[in-house]
Amino acid sequence: MAKPRLGVFKFSSCDGCQLSLLDCEDELLAVAGAIDIAYFPEATRSDDVGHYDIAFIEGSVTTPHEAEMIQDIRARSTALITLGACATSGGIQALKNGADTAAFIDAVYAHPEYIDTLDTATPISDHVTVDFELRGCPISKRDLIELVAATVVGRTPQTPSHAACIECKLAGHVCVMVSQGTPCLGPVTHAGCGALCPGYARGCYGCFGPKETPNTAALAAQLANHGADNRQIARLFSTFNTNAPEFRKEAEKHE
Ligand code: SF4
Ligand code: SF4
Repeated sequence: MAKPRLGVFKFSSCDGCQLSLLDCEDELLAVAGAIDIAYFPEATRSDDVGHYDIAFIEGSVTTPHEAEMIQDIRARSTALITLGACATSGGIQALKNGADTAAFIDAVYAHPEYIDTLDTATPISDHVTVDFELRGCPISKRDLIELVAATVVGRTPQTPSHAACIECKLAGHVCVMVSQGTPCLGPVTHAGCGALCPGYARGCYGCFGPKETPNTAALAAQLANHGADNRQIARLFSTFNTNAPEFRKEAEKHE
């Protein structure tokens, strides 16, 4: 039986999610036996353009070229899977949405005339149908291996959508919000990182984006009880997943 052909594509992103894929080196050796890695410029010299059974997409759409490219990849792929906060919600670069992009370009680039960009950074699902979204900034190795293993055998990946608080309690961490009054997005954030930050006595930054049905209003009220002002609350919801609708709406209420 022919092995499924995999393509890995980069859009506007920092490469962190592709590096997570490369970081699975031991597991990738096994995966490489089950999958034909046809296109993955960061890892192989293979430049095999054609149809892909699985396309992994890292990054958001921020240029006219990327808006065209994602249509082409979608048309040539059976399953299209997005990796990370950039691809699933627009990423940190979505902070430019609603701002004056032309002013940013003038301030940053010596030759703004060479820059061809859109006014927004948007998730892949705003442009094409997405078959599965893997959260995180970056994605977790555990979720990625589960995704690849499930995709190869044709089952649904098991990536729980409950809150990071569940992982935090399972890990036995002391709650930083209750014990120190430190702002923490754990109650509204999708699990996946293993509650990394609370394990180091820091609040959760929401890297994995909104969990299923997040009660952001209740968390914002709790943050205010702990002394956070409107500006702090808005900024807390405006980081790696600033364009995720649930986080964006809560931020806007406090701006
Ligand atoms: S989701 Fe985070 S780690 Fe992944 S490419 Fe975007 S910025 Fe980098
Ligand atoms: S530290 Fe954060 S993630 Fe952990 S239980 Fe408290 S609120 Fe939830």
